[in-house]
Amino acid sequence: MRLSRSFLPILRETPKEAEIVSHRLMLRAGLIRQQSAGIYSWLPLGKRVLANIERIVREEQDRAGAIEVLMPTLQSADLWKESGRYDDYGKEMLRIEDRHERAMLYGPTNEEMITDIFRSYVRSYKELPLNLYHIQWKFRDEVRPRFGVMRGREFLMKDAYSFDIDEAAARRAYNRMFVAYLRTFDRLGVKAIPMRADSGPIGGDATHEFIVLAATGESAVFLDKAALDTPIPPADVDFDGDLTPIVAAWTEKYAATEEMHDKAVFEALPEDQRIEARGIEVGQVFYFGTKYSEPMGAKVTGPDGVEHAVHMGSYGIGVSRLVAAIIEASHDEAGIIWPESIAPYRVGLINMKAGDDATDTVCNAIYERLTNAGIEVLYDDLDQRAGAKFATMDLIGLPWQLIVGPRGLANGEVELKRRATGERETLTIDAAVNRLI
Ligand code: ATP
Ligand code: MG
Ligand code: MG
Ligand code: MG
Repeated sequence: MRLSRSFLPILRETPKEAEIVSHRLMLRAGLIRQQSAGIYSWLPLGKRVLANIERIVREEQDRAGAIEVLMPTLQSADLWKESGRYDDYGKEMLRIEDRHERAMLYGPTNEEMITDIFRSYVRSYKELPLNLYHIQWKFRDEVRPRFGVMRGREFLMKDAYSFDIDEAAARRAYNRMFVAYLRTFDRLGVKAIPMRADSGPIGGDATHEFIVLAATGESAVFLDKAALDTPIPPADVDFDGDLTPIVAAWTEKYAATEEMHDKAVFEALPEDQRIEARGIEVGQVFYFGTKYSEPMGAKVTGPDGVEHAVHMGSYGIGVSRLVAAIIEASHDEAGIIWPESIAPYRVGLINMKAGDDATDTVCNAIYERLTNAGIEVLYDDLDQRAGAKFATMDLIGLPWQLIVGPRGLANGEVELKRRATGERETLTIDAAVNRLI
């Protein structure tokens, strides 16, 4: 993409309304624009990051055996009356009436709807296990939307729902999502620690929140330092095999949110091993048994020929919140530092003297070679002073900057800068291109 043909509304001023660094940087780098409290438009660069996160989330859900569907944002209130949550959910639910005066709502989550889908088609234990997920916008009328997309009202969530014949099978489903989450967050370039957590209004008796440590996080957390070094399962982990040792390696180490904190157990750890910190909840996994299947009649015939209410779990990832959480974990004074896996472009190609025949020709050739090799390049072909170009590239945080100026070109050389470390290297054009391919 040529900068001259793109839409990248950079703000030079620091927006006053933004209280935390990720929100400031998302506004300044032109990733998002607020449309109303807690409701955002995603501008081109932000949209690309969001899509990259979605892709990784989807790949890891698929790998773990979950199957993608897409449910609507608007739901009928009737389903929520069946589960009993229509009255319980309170003011966080946005209630809407259609022209026929039917009670509708903008879904804050989808347990009821997925249970309805399940009960409409599945009759036998032979069709289990089943895990269906979607990546869809949710609406929660948060009392205090703040920190940009970190706590929005409209936000993008991946939510998966598992169905099993009994508790033992449901716990295996839980473990599959647990392992998928470890891999997902690792690929997104963040350290998310699973912690014992409160189950809240979704209900249930087994749940972990996946939390990224960050000073600006809204949750107080307590953990054993050893949790930080627990290994991430590899890509070829056998999801059909026994995952309990992997899960146990994490759950055996102390890690809990404030609600579940057990001071006595925590303080039994050696002092230099205790971490008291703040964190951002980027995902949560729940096992809640028959909480929805029982009242909503989601039953299958078991091997014993008798009908059983299915055991369910639900598994959320805050896709849009992750954009902010990743920035909180990865930035410096100059701007964002995207992990390679989700960067909106991998390379920023900077033409230091746009309009000059020599630099234009070389930049065009490099742009074409990289693009043909499948590398995403943002080509700064604007006629601007060097300082502004560097500031923009640092702000938007692409992993690599390839700088082409007349002085270097006189010797056939360009400069390659790694955003994360600031390291610069002078290389021949070929060497620089080969480094990136
Ligand atoms: P929180 O404790 O932050 O209010 P939650 O526990 O209510 O989140 P869940 O029901 O567990 O949220 O939803 C799954 C995921 O969706 C969360 O782990 C979080 O990453 C994301 N999420 C929840 N609420 C919001 C929001 N208002 N804005 C952005 N992401 C959100
Ligand atoms: Mg909430
Ligand atoms: Mg929570
Ligand atoms: Mg939660």
